[in-house]
Amino acid sequence: MRRRQAFKFRLEPKRQQERQMKFFAGTCRYVFNRALALQKERYAEGQKKLGYAELCRRLTQWRHDPETAWLAEAPIHPLQQSLKNLERAYANFFSGRADFPRFRKKGKQDSFRYPDPRQIRLDQANNRIFLPKLGWIRYRKSREVPGQIRNVTVSQSCGQWFVSIQTEWEVAPPVHPSTTDVGIDMGVVRFATLSDGTYIEPLNSFRRHEKALRKAQQALSRRKKFSSNWKKAKTKVQRIHARIASVRRDFLHKASTAISKNHAIVFVEDLNIRNMSRSARGTVEHPGRNVRAKSGLNKSILDQGWFEFRRQLEYKLAWKGGMLVAVPPQNTSRACPECGHTAPENRPDQARFCCVQCGFEGNADLVAAINIRRAGHARMACGSNDTSRRKQEPAKVSRAT
Ligand SMILES: [Zn+2]
Repeated sequence: MRRRQAFKFRLEPKRQQERQMKFFAGTCRYVFNRALALQKERYAEGQKKLGYAELCRRLTQWRHDPETAWLAEAPIHPLQQSLKNLERAYANFFSGRADFPRFRKKGKQDSFRYPDPRQIRLDQANNRIFLPKLGWIRYRKSREVPGQIRNVTVSQSCGQWFVSIQTEWEVAPPVHPSTTDVGIDMGVVRFATLSDGTYIEPLNSFRRHEKALRKAQQALSRRKKFSSNWKKAKTKVQRIHARIASVRRDFLHKASTAISKNHAIVFVEDLNIRNMSRSARGTVEHPGRNVRAKSGLNKSILDQGWFEFRRQLEYKLAWKGGMLVAVPPQNTSRACPECGHTAPENRPDQARFCCVQCGFEGNADLVAAINIRRAGHARMACGSNDTSRRKQEPAKVSRAT
């Protein structure tokens, strides 16, 4: 089994290198935006979208055009990579996973990637990395990087530069130390409720920091744009944002690590979190009907990062030899775990479950977690007994290979 992981370090560039990195990020942004503008133009004229190979040919033309000859001063692979990123943004849009590709703005997602490992050298003994057209750059080494390099991404955040080194190495197929399985219900009141009765409180990092953020944003709006006080206020706003992100990341990692350690198989509901948040927003022409009712819930969903939590659970389980299994969400909140009676009346309110048939009572989230686990067992049983059926009807099982 090949294991892939990214290791992120803070860079300590020289002035000249920092200028170059800013310039490279700018050229990548330019190429991305120009290619996107070109595709939009072609679409408006009823022409076909250009493929990646054709975009690369255009890029070569731009690099030879005297007007944009400065593009030739940037390394070629990161420029091509930004065309690949545009391709992926289109693919995500067409499959419904993301909104239509947007133009990149300066200062937002300032980054570029070196996709060719043959051009990169990592000198761990001397805390430095060699990147094309930048030379050797020092980084703050917080740990050893194992494996062979796949690619390297350089990015800027809050005025600091980082390098993310993705590597890959061979590991023996792991055997999960635990033999238990568990169902998880994700919620707003409780972040996660497990079918074994335990649960994780929500963090709501955004709400906790909301007040400080609002104050800082108000201070920013009172300052004269681009004045030195404005810059200070802006840095403060960015710091609070970074703090929120880091507290949340920490929370999600702790939760996903604990669960993936304790259980070999984890069942979750197969809800499309992105769709849930989009349906409320609607489009510009047709604003979502439930905007007000849902926006509170949406804020909680996005704030808590369920999508990221699921992603982490999936790969952490795979690393340990376990697996994450998504089950369809039908009736998981309305079915009685005792007698099986399924009715909306079983849920007198958001928090309680009370079966109208047999009188079973319990916490509604716990009931849902138990039902999710049962649905998962049923799904796995039919999948493993009849392989031919499994081929026609692929169960959404993610497993380590
Ligand atoms: Zn019942």
